[in-house]
Amino acid sequence: MSDMNSKNTNLTATPESSASYAYTKAITNKYGITAKKSLGQNFLTDNHVLQKILRSAEICKDDTVIEIGPGIGTMTHELCRLAKRVVAVEIDKSLIPVLTETLSKYDNLTVINNDILKTDINEIIGDDKSVKLVANLPYYITTPIIMRILENEYNIKSICVMVQKEVGERMRAKPSTKDYGSLTVSVAYFADAELLANVPPNCFFPRPNVDSCVIKLNVLEKPRVNVKDREKFFTFVKAAFSKRRKTLVNCLTSYEGLSLEKNDVLAALNKLGLSESVRGEALDITEFSKIAEVLL
Ligand code: SAM
Repeated sequence: MSDMNSKNTNLTATPESSASYAYTKAITNKYGITAKKSLGQNFLTDNHVLQKILRSAEICKDDTVIEIGPGIGTMTHELCRLAKRVVAVEIDKSLIPVLTETLSKYDNLTVINNDILKTDINEIIGDDKSVKLVANLPYYITTPIIMRILENEYNIKSICVMVQKEVGERMRAKPSTKDYGSLTVSVAYFADAELLANVPPNCFFPRPNVDSCVIKLNVLEKPRVNVKDREKFFTFVKAAFSKRRKTLVNCLTSYEGLSLEKNDVLAALNKLGLSESVRGEALDITEFSKIAEVLL
């Protein structure tokens, strides 16, 4: 392939060179690509960070990897080398020729031009037993993507992703801290969350105006707690965090979607030996599930 824009950059990319500023510049110049802010396009240019993600994802030759938003294929090169099969779902039509041309040597790659939120994930997974999700996510839809994957309980073992630092901190926060909230509890219901690395803006092109982190969610074989009605439980958790500085009783009884009576909530707290003035932010998922069992 011609080497139009940089004497030192091989546009067919060895995996070691794909996460670099020079490779990213050469590819974006060659294909006339301008990163689209509206699609969260910040391409990874740091090989140490790339290697950290790959090591943490623990990909082996039996794995199928789903990559969300491959962009110009920086991570896709290495995923193809490590996994049995890679399915990369990219919404931006203008990136498809970049991916199909620069990754043409891999016969284990399928590129799908679609919105991940509208993609049939079960169809991708098929009968595959060991499926992992790896991505440098588009930050504007991080939570909808993660929650869609978790709530649908697809046969996916782990999710190793780059996210905005604040979102990563909310996913793995401890009770009674500022980051603890309904996202923490929802993630904890399905998975163990692990922070793997903090990543500064200069590891991307263009640089995002927020810090990032790599987080791994190890999906549990069954949900962490037993609840009668999962949808109601999630509404209940959302209600518990609906007013940050108010007591649980106040939050639950004033939340429209629940219609709970103050006396019933107080009775449930007393039954479980919890203070009547407890706040949602002090409770862990097991305590939430016990209260829900009494009330819902
Ligand atoms: N993986 C590449 C990398 O690390 O350099 C690009 C990551 S960039 C942060 C996010 C990617 O997600 C972009 O390529 C963007 O076009 C894509 N994207 C944005 N919204 C998407 C969606 N709804 N479905 C699939 N891909 C999406």
